[in-house]
This record gives sequence, C-alpha cells and structure tokens, in this order.
Amino acid sequence: MPAKRDYYELLGVSRNATPEEIKKAYRQLARKYHPDVNKDDPEAGEKFKEFTEAYAVLSDAQKRAAYDQYGHAAFEPGQGGGFGGFDFDISDFGFGDLFDVIFGGSASGRSRRSGPRRGADREMRVDINFEDALFGIERDLELSRVETCTKCEGSGAEPGTSTKTCSACNGSGQMRNVQNTPFGRFETVRPCNQCRGEGKIIEKACTRCRGTGQERKIRKINVRIPAGVDSGSRMRISGEGEVGSNGGPPGDLYILIAVKPHPRFRREGYNLITTLEINFVQAALGADITIDLPGGAIHNLHIPEGTQPGTVLTAKGKGVAHIQGHRIGDLKVNVEVRIPTRISKKQRELLEAFYEGGEEQKPGRKGIFDKFKDAIG
Ligand SMILES: [Zn+2]
Ligand SMILES: [Zn+2]
Repeated sequence: MPAKRDYYELLGVSRNATPEEIKKAYRQLARKYHPDVNKDDPEAGEKFKEFTEAYAVLSDAQKRAAYDQYGHAAFEPGQGGGFGGFDFDISDFGFGDLFDVIFGGSASGRSRRSGPRRGADREMRVDINFEDALFGIERDLELSRVETCTKCEGSGAEPGTSTKTCSACNGSGQMRNVQNTPFGRFETVRPCNQCRGEGKIIEKACTRCRGTGQERKIRKINVRIPAGVDSGSRMRISGEGEVGSNGGPPGDLYILIAVKPHPRFRREGYNLITTLEINFVQAALGADITIDLPGGAIHNLHIPEGTQPGTVLTAKGKGVAHIQGHRIGDLKVNVEVRIPTRISKKQRELLEAFYEGGEEQKPGRKGIFDKFKDAIG
C-alpha cells in the first residue's frame, strides 16, 4: 500500500486550521475535482477520494484529535488507535450523498427546478484521410442529441391536458432523508420518486416524448476542418453540445481528429517524411527523381552524386502548412540504396573491372558506372 499523504497537506490547510477553514478548503477541492466535472481526468476520482477521506477525519473533532495524536495509525485495524479501523471507501458511500452535504440538494434534484443550466459538452471522433489533414476538408456530421420535445415544449404533458401538484413532495420535487454513515449523520436530498423531481403530476403524458419532455433529434452540421490538423487535434464547435435546461445555453462539441496513416508518408509535426529507394548506380552518379506528394503534387528531388545510404535530403517548404500562420514544414526524404542481389555476367564483369580500377572513379565522369547503368537498364 502506498504511503498515505498527510490529511492537512491534502486539504492544503495548517495543523491548527479552524473547522471553517477545513470546510472551505474541502469545498474548493471538491468543486475542482468532482468526478462528474472531470470525466477526462482518470485521476480526479482518486484525488477526490483522497481528500474526501481527509475531510471526513478532520471535520470530526474526535477523529481529528486521534489523527493529531497517532497519525494514520489511528484508523488502521489493530494499531490500537481506538477507532477499530474502518476502511474509507467513498465509492460505497456514494458521491451523491456527500455532495448533498457540500452543496445542498442532490445533483439530479437540482436539474430542472433551479435556474438555467448549461448543457454538457460532448466529444466526437472524426476520421480523416492523410491528405485531408494536410489540406483541410469540409465534413457534414450527423449528431444525435436530446432536445426539448416540440409537441409539449418540454412540459411532458399532452397539450390540452392538465397537471396537478405532487402530493408526495408538495410540489418541491424533493424528498429529504437523514442517513447514518461512517462519517456521521448526513442529510440527503433526492428527487421525489412520485413526480420524478418535477413537483407536479402529469394527467396524460405527451404521446411524442412519453412524458419525458425530451426527444432525440438528428442534427446535421457542416464543419470545416482546417489544413494542418493532426491526429489528436481537438476542435471546439461552440453550442453543438447537449442542450441546456431551463433556458440554459447548450454545451460545446469537441471534435477529436484521427488521421488515417498514409502508405508512403508520415508526419513529424509539420515535416513530411518519406523513404526513397534508389539503386547504387543512382547513388553514385546522382539522379533526378520525381516524388508524388500526397494530394497529387509532384516534387523533383535531386539526388547528388555520391549520395550515401541513410542520407536525409530536405526539400524546404514542401511539408505541411501550419494550422495557423504562414509557415510550411519541410519534406524529408530518407534515401535507401538498393544493392542488387542477383547480377548478370556482364554486370559482374563491369563491377570486377571497376574494383580492379583500384579506387572509386570521380563521379560524373563517363566511366564504368555509366556502363553499369546501361547494363541495369
Ligand atoms: Zn412531449
Ligand atoms: Zn413529488
């Protein structure tokens, strides 16, 4: 088991902090790390658990005194701390319950009865081709999202029928309940189950949404994916997330770009990387080779005389356009030199003659390599 962090340190308070200071510190942390608002951060839940445990101890005068005296040992089984050792398992305890204590009112109970609430953000993965990432592309996306029912305008009641106040909760939409937990007594507020938190009972449910007041609709939006995006790029489309409630604004849509690999090219940031195989005659004499770039353009690459295997040739400004600004990355060509595995009798004679020449001929001079080039065809 990893060493436990000091409870005061976890909450960021001093050892002689007042109960109010402890509560305040906890509230701030809880708002920041609540797992519901940190769905993207897998560590948020763990952090939340840690400092909630710290708060559970430090907010209880008796437990705090024990902790001050014995440290974490006070709560470990068989350590004689006097508390019999119980394992804090916040997940058993339930985030919702604790949140009722911290914020008052349960998360679901709050939703429809309080003020406007912004809709949730959502994320959508969009797969695009390598070329589309280089040059940008427009895409039509279909989004299914829950919107207010158009027939009942969100009331859930069939138009023309009446609704009455819920008798179970007297129209408040909430049921209060006091719970005993390992941390003490907590008041819990839950949505009324008679009226599902609405505070009113619908005489006849809307036939379109079956009384939910919501319906799922398909929306089509057109998105311009800019040139220069890469796998992992995230685009925010304002207002295309889930709809808000009580007149609140919608959340945002985040588009997560996934770029399909290319058979011949890959990217390193804004540089375009490829591998070119030439034969050893081309390497020795030099050559001009046409490279088909993604998107249909061509680049005439000059291979200098005497190019060695593993050479990287750079073509400035032939890479990827930056998503912002005017810079363009480079094309980098890794040159591989192919050595023939089978040679003809004539080729063998030419190579042997070259070898017997003693030293490499000066490249470019019409000589043995040119004859070899002709022999290779
Ligand atoms: Zn409806
Ligand atoms: Zn009710």
